[in-house]
Amino acid sequence: MKCSPNNPILLSASLHVDEARRVISDLVTELLEESAKASDSSQLEIVSLDQAINRILAEDLLSPIDVPAADNSAMDGYAFHGDCLTDSEDLLVLKVIGTAYAGKPFQGQIEPGECLKIMTGALMPDGCDTVIPQELTKSQSDELIEFPKNLLKSGDNRRLRGEDLQKAQPAIEAGRILRPSDLGLAASLGIASLKVHRKLKVAILSSGDELRSLGQTLDAGSIYDSNRYSLVGLLNRINVEIIDCGIVRDDPASLKEAFCNAAKVADVLISSGGVSVGEADFTKQIMQELGDVGFWKIAMRPGRPMAFGTLKPLAGQSKTRKTLFFGLPGNPVAVMVTFYQFVRTALLQLNGAKDAEPQITQARSSLLIRKKPGRTEFQRAIFSRGEDGKPAVKLTGSQGAGILRSMSEANCFVILHHDQGNIEPGDWVDVALFDGLL
Ligand code: AMP
Ligand code: MG
Repeated sequence: MKCSPNNPILLSASLHVDEARRVISDLVTELLEESAKASDSSQLEIVSLDQAINRILAEDLLSPIDVPAADNSAMDGYAFHGDCLTDSEDLLVLKVIGTAYAGKPFQGQIEPGECLKIMTGALMPDGCDTVIPQELTKSQSDELIEFPKNLLKSGDNRRLRGEDLQKAQPAIEAGRILRPSDLGLAASLGIASLKVHRKLKVAILSSGDELRSLGQTLDAGSIYDSNRYSLVGLLNRINVEIIDCGIVRDDPASLKEAFCNAAKVADVLISSGGVSVGEADFTKQIMQELGDVGFWKIAMRPGRPMAFGTLKPLAGQSKTRKTLFFGLPGNPVAVMVTFYQFVRTALLQLNGAKDAEPQITQARSSLLIRKKPGRTEFQRAIFSRGEDGKPAVKLTGSQGAGILRSMSEANCFVILHHDQGNIEPGDWVDVALFDGLL
């Protein structure tokens, strides 16, 4: 079955969240295949390590060196040759003939019956392959240490050259969303810059006659455009270039013009508002002219109505790829939930990321949560340590789709799956934390 946002099977009833995700992912794959055919090198750029956080690595980073570069000690202790170790409890007595520090190797040779005081990370001296940790030894005198011969095995407490990573092995694989540890790893290999995918250009617009920009006066029935700022915040978390198209009135000509302008420059257009039942017909008409967009009723809460598809390349525009389009619902919480559930992963994938799915953990619900089977719900909650020391979640007050405070106070979503019913106090539920640890 050809994947299309307008597939009639999908429109016949409420769409399961997983099915919506699949159609989105298939379309992103299709767009990626199209751009791979064009093999356009302007899609990549080289950035220095201090600019690379959250960017997406474009090709495997191969290690130019063995890590560690030479055998070294894993402990503070004494290095010696392990061929004198046996199964017996007899004491081995060794003469300490010097010290090796990290960065200051010992130059001499260690003979049988001798050992070298050695610090963690110091190079293993010639003639040694084993380290006895300091705390397992006794001193007979300033110069002599002793320990039972069966306390360790030959080769213990030594890090071998290339043990972590061998020269020419991939240290970080293409598609990684670069984290602090990746930057440290690249630096440890002496690499100062990385090849990453260029930032995606994402246009956002808010649609609705009732919307006012910050600084404008609120007349009767009008509200401030808050979705613009939630979306800017969400998009900044994934490091894209944002093109703010502002507020667009509920009027076909303005909407069409705004969509066309965005499609000329952006890889992705995200609008909010104007896709609910009352307004969809109006937006649908415009979309029929501009591209291939489906209007979905998704079996989820919040965020039931959503439009998704592509906008055709327009005459005179420089880019050749279609623009991916997400028409999110207008309600402020629904915007954030649909972004989290559908948009974030798609944008990361489109930008070359692997493993772009949000991380899910589990916690015990402190209270009863009412839920009807037949739709996926994203309830806002606070994740903390429960009285029994296990992870617990508690919902943040009223869960209406327009109540942004429920979202602002929360630090996670409780995800109640399609077939789940009521959750009893103490039941384990799936949880998606808003902020990652690293
Ligand atoms: P709509 O999907 O356009 O019917 O909007 C649903 C609800 O969300 C209405 O109450 C709108 O006023 C509200 N809404 C739509 N867009 C925004 C926005 N950008 N900021 C805040 N609220 C909005
Ligand atoms: Mg509206």
